[in-house]
Amino acid sequence: MSQIVIIGAGQAGAQAVASLRSEGFTGSIVMVGDEAFVPYQRPPLSKAYLMGTFARERLFLKPEHAYAEAGCELILNASAKAIDRAAKTVTSSDGREFSYDQLLIATGTRIRPIKCAGAELKGIHYLRSIADVDALQPEIVKGRKLAVIGGGFIGLEVAAVAAKHGLEVTVFEALERVMARAVSKTVSDFFEGAHRAAGVTIVTNTGVEGFDGEDAVTAVRAGGKSYPADVVLVGIGVLPNVEIAAEAGIECKNGIVVDKNARTSDPNVYAAGDCTWHEGRDGNWLRLESVQNAIDQAKIAAAAIAGKPRDYNEVPWFWSDQFDLKLQIAGLTRPDDVQVVRGDPVARKFAVFHLRDGAVAAVEAVNMAPEYLVGRKLIAEGTKVSAERLGDMSVAIKNVV
Ligand code: FAD
Repeated sequence: MSQIVIIGAGQAGAQAVASLRSEGFTGSIVMVGDEAFVPYQRPPLSKAYLMGTFARERLFLKPEHAYAEAGCELILNASAKAIDRAAKTVTSSDGREFSYDQLLIATGTRIRPIKCAGAELKGIHYLRSIADVDALQPEIVKGRKLAVIGGGFIGLEVAAVAAKHGLEVTVFEALERVMARAVSKTVSDFFEGAHRAAGVTIVTNTGVEGFDGEDAVTAVRAGGKSYPADVVLVGIGVLPNVEIAAEAGIECKNGIVVDKNARTSDPNVYAAGDCTWHEGRDGNWLRLESVQNAIDQAKIAAAAIAGKPRDYNEVPWFWSDQFDLKLQIAGLTRPDDVQVVRGDPVARKFAVFHLRDGAVAAVEAVNMAPEYLVGRKLIAEGTKVSAERLGDMSVAIKNVV
């Protein structure tokens, strides 16, 4: 009987187990994860879970018994250490060895540590796992000063939660605007305004030089000034966990290189999720950090393993919750896209459509779910649209085409 080994018990790993079975794979499955928990969803960690309005049990994608019922041996608290591609085995930190016929690497990413003076002081936190939230949550106390390093999605989501809890929050962003790599200037400007209106201080164009404090952090040094801080959250990005693949001689770039079937440079080894470097719909290669990509690529890998390969051609999508604002993004923007704003940022309800060659290439919607859904569909279909009709609120979004 053939055996699949999955390294990494996260979003992609859990999806692969379900999809292998739904694609008809009848062999055995072993999934090795280095965390203490069964696979869980990370998005709520910086949103409702940190806020305290989302119970821990809801984080778990499935209860533990579901893996056994699916014929998957789930091994937790164990890190896969090495892949021997000639012998087709994986060894783990607990001294075990697993044979595979086909292997799926779904190791995700790890936080990018900040490198500056004082980076090891107490009170400096990161946010990637349940354990990280458990460490941060007791520090979210009314009246304390929180410094957030990095104005990306995670930094801003934590800033919003902390502001709601009555902390004095300052966000430091090295670039000229928040979320600059992911959203248009219109959306960045809008979110900066929303944070400022909620009492958050946003300091852009300012890199952090170091942290002060004896044992615990007391201040952030940035832009030649000192900002008092009781607690710090660093959200400056992640690094793909490619080492186990690279050391086994599998091709890696800014991620494990996979083809349209999620297959690596070794035909018996697949990879899915945040750890992969893959070709997007527009022919550009990229690494995506999103639930959508983890789920869809895991489905593609499972289909190929089960002998039913199909190409990965999904429209990327993503979301972020900050205060009462739901940002939903589909597609990938380019600086030279024609932008059409629909709705009104002042009313906290608008969408920015990005047109390329007359078709919608991306949409960013704030509190406008129908615009997001229609936009996503238009991107998938590549339908040409009139910019004028898109921007005209008297034309219902469903009638734009
Ligand atoms: P993961 O879910 O990270 O799973 C990888 C697992 O592999 C981890 O448990 C890791 O510890 C384990 N592992 C690594 N190396 C080994 C090894 N050698 N042996 C064994 N196990 C190993 N995405 C969205 O789309 N929307 C959001 O709003 C959103 N919010 C987010 C908020 C936070 C705070 C974070 C951290 C992420 C968020 N994301 C969001 C991103 C999303 O969670 C990831 O894209 C998704 O989890 C990727 O799934 P994955 O399976 O590739 O990686």
